[in-house]
Amino acid sequence: HLSKRLATVASFVPVGARLADIGSDHAYLPAALAIQNKIVYAVAGEVARGPFENALHEIKSQKLDHIINVRQADGLSAITSNDFIDAVTIAGMGGTLITKILSEGIKNLSGVKSLILQPNVGEFGLRQWLMNHQFRITNESILSEDGHTYEIIVAQPSNKVVNYSESQLYFGPWLLQQKNEVFKAKWREEAEHLRDSIEHMKIASNPPRTKITQFEQQIRQIQRVLE
Ligand code: SAM
Repeated sequence: HLSKRLATVASFVPVGARLADIGSDHAYLPAALAIQNKIVYAVAGEVARGPFENALHEIKSQKLDHIINVRQADGLSAITSNDFIDAVTIAGMGGTLITKILSEGIKNLSGVKSLILQPNVGEFGLRQWLMNHQFRITNESILSEDGHTYEIIVAQPSNKVVNYSESQLYFGPWLLQQKNEVFKAKWREEAEHLRDSIEHMKIASNPPRTKITQFEQQIRQIQRVLE
């Protein structure tokens, strides 16, 4: 049984995919997809020993080793061209780490048609990376679970130049169009947080004016979107 977060990530994996799940930990995501017959093959990549062993154990006990290969490796070096991977999931890490994994393994992405990414933070930088590497964002989702808000970004390689505005990179091009309740709550909270930070900065003996102005601009940008 997957968390709502991982179930949403899983829902974007195309049926019949050959999947690489990087930073798989217990390999719950590829295991669930294999049990549902949604994927035909998967690599569960893990860099750390403990999680790698968790994944091995999970796949063995579920008898899924004919579909899922668990490999201890750093990022996309877990896969080779012989795996014919066409979808990659990377979930539950910071956006900076996700972009690092994508950058370092970019040559392994040549046959990949879908990236399904769930950054815990750093969504802006991740969207910017996708744009700068000719990936088009084809879908997005936002959800809340156990008091956390998660964004999921789905992308595919594009042969055309991709351009997103500052605001699309910040809020997410699809999330900005939908503006659902989870989205509104997230950004109301973020504006609140920025206001609190400004109050704290203002009572300092030497208030950081540039930072305050920057935060005030961010609040106005959020207000425009929430109106
Ligand atoms: N993907 C699962 C999820 O969303 O529930 C697990 C997320 S867990 C918080 C992050 C995992 O990524 C950890 O098990 C960590 O060892 C692994 N990880 C971090 N950097 C990695 C890298 N460069 N290559 C492979 N795995 C990595």
